[in-house]
Amino acid sequence: MHQTCVNYFHTHLLQVYGCRVQKLCLDGGFTCPNRDGTKARGGCYFCDASGSGAAHIVPTDSITQQLRNQKKRCEQRYGAARFIAYFQAFTNTYASIPRLRSLYDEATADPQVVGLSVGTRADCITPAVCELLAEYVTRGLRVWVEIGVQTINQRTLDQMNRAETVDDYRRAAQLVKQAGLELVAHVIAGLPGDTGEDFLRTIRFLNEIMADGAKIHNLYIDSRATLASWWRDGKCRVLGFEEYVSLVADGLEILSPRCLIHRLSGQAPRQYHLAPAWALDKNLVIHSIEKELERRRSRQGARYPSEVSSESF
Ligand code: SF4
Repeated sequence: MHQTCVNYFHTHLLQVYGCRVQKLCLDGGFTCPNRDGTKARGGCYFCDASGSGAAHIVPTDSITQQLRNQKKRCEQRYGAARFIAYFQAFTNTYASIPRLRSLYDEATADPQVVGLSVGTRADCITPAVCELLAEYVTRGLRVWVEIGVQTINQRTLDQMNRAETVDDYRRAAQLVKQAGLELVAHVIAGLPGDTGEDFLRTIRFLNEIMADGAKIHNLYIDSRATLASWWRDGKCRVLGFEEYVSLVADGLEILSPRCLIHRLSGQAPRQYHLAPAWALDKNLVIHSIEKELERRRSRQGARYPSEVSSESF
C-alpha cells in the first residue's frame, strides 16, 4: 500500500469505506455568540460575514434540499457514493437541543450519509450537546466535532476578538472525547501577534488534548473580514510561501502520527481573496509541504514522543 508522509483524512475514509466519501456543506441558519452580542460583536477578525460558510450554498433551502443539490453535484463531479453531512457556517451547536436534533436528523436521514460533522465554538459545547451527538454514534454514524483553537497564544486570541479562552477549549475537548465523538481542531498559522513558536506550541496542544483530526491553514485575508482593513493599512502581514511550507512541515513532524489531517491550506472564495496570492494554488501548497518532508526524510509524527512514533498509520 502506498503511504505518504502525511496521515490524510481522505485516505483514511477511502480505506474505511472503500470509496470516495464527500463532505456536503450545509447551512442550518445558525448565528454565532461572537456576532450576536452574547459573547461579543463583530466576530473573530479573520472570519467573514458568511461565518466561513461555503459560497455555493443557498441558506434558505431546507437541509434536505441542500443535501440533494450537493449530492448531485458531488456524484457528477467526483463519483462519490458516501457522504458526510457537514454543518459548516457559523456555530452549529448554538441552538436549543430540539432544534439541533431536528436539523441533525434531517441531515442524516439519507442512507448514503455515513457521518455527521459539526463546526462549532468551544463555549458552545455542553454535556447536553455531546449527549445528543453521541446518539448518532449509537445509530452507526461517525460524528466529528470541529472546534477552532486557532492558536494557544491567549493574547493573539484576545486581539482577534475570539472571546474565549484556551481553558474553554480544553474543557470542550474533554467533553467531546468523553462522549466518544471525534475531535477536529482548527489551527491558523500566521495570525497577527503569533510567532512560529506559538504555532508549534499549538500543535503540541493538539497532542495534549488528543485531537483526532486537524485542519491547519495559513492566515488568509478575506475582503469581508475585519482583518482586511488591517492588512490594507499595513497593520498585519501574511506568511510567505516558503515560510508557511517550512513551518507546517515543522508542525507535522511533532504532531501525533495518529491525528488525521483534514486540511493543509486555506483561501477565501476567489472573488474575496486578497492575500496571500500563493494560497490560491492549494495543490501546490500541499505538494510543497509533502516535498519538504520528503527532502528532510521525515514524516508526520517523526518528532512525536518516541513511545508512539514507531506506530504506523
Ligand atoms: S470564526 Fe467561528 S466563532 Fe469566530 S465569528 Fe466566525 S463563526 Fe463565530
